[in-house]
Amino acid sequence: MPPKKSADKRPDPPCMVCNPDFAKPGDYCPLHLNQLEHLDLQCESLFRFQRISRGSGHESYNIFLQNDADPCGRVLVAETDLENLFITILISENVNLDTTIPEYEFFKIVRTFGEQLQIRIRQEIVYSWYGNARACIEVYRIIPEQPQHWDIESRADYAAAEDEIPDPHFPQGNKNSIH
Ligand SMILES: [Zn+2]
Repeated sequence: MPPKKSADKRPDPPCMVCNPDFAKPGDYCPLHLNQLEHLDLQCESLFRFQRISRGSGHESYNIFLQNDADPCGRVLVAETDLENLFITILISENVNLDTTIPEYEFFKIVRTFGEQLQIRIRQEIVYSWYGNARACIEVYRIIPEQPQHWDIESRADYAAAEDEIPDPHFPQGNKNSIH
C-alpha cells in the first residue's frame, strides 16, 4: 500500500464510499453526501401518489410506479383517533417490494422498493397529516384487475324502492329463500 500523503492538512473524513475504514453507516464525505441526497430526490419519483378521495378523517390514493399510466395499487388512510392513522396498502403482486434499488449499492445502502414506498408514505401522507400523526400500516398483495363495483343505496332509498314493488305473496313466507 502506498504511504499516506503526509502533506494533507486534515485527514479525509470517514465516508462509506471513499474512506470506509473508520466510517459508520450514514457517514459520508461532503461530496458523496451530496450525491446521496441527489439520488434520494431522484428516487422520490419511483412511486407517485394521486389522491382520489378525501373526507373528514380519511383519504385514498392511487399508487403509480414510475411513469406507468395505470395505477399499481391503492393507499387507504383512516384516522382511527387523534394523531393515529391506520393505513391499508393494496399493491399489485407484479410489484416486487423486495427488489433492491441498484443505485444505492454504491453508497453501501440496501434500499428496497418496499422501503422506498414506506418512505414516500411517511413523507407525503403521515407527516403531512394534521397534527403529529403516527401510523400503523398493513400491506396486502392484490391481483391487478379492475375492482368489482357495488352501490348500496341509503336505507331510506332502499325502503322506498321496496314500497314501489307490488307486494307479492310468498307462500312459504320467506322472502330470502333461494328456492
Ligand atoms: Zn466520500
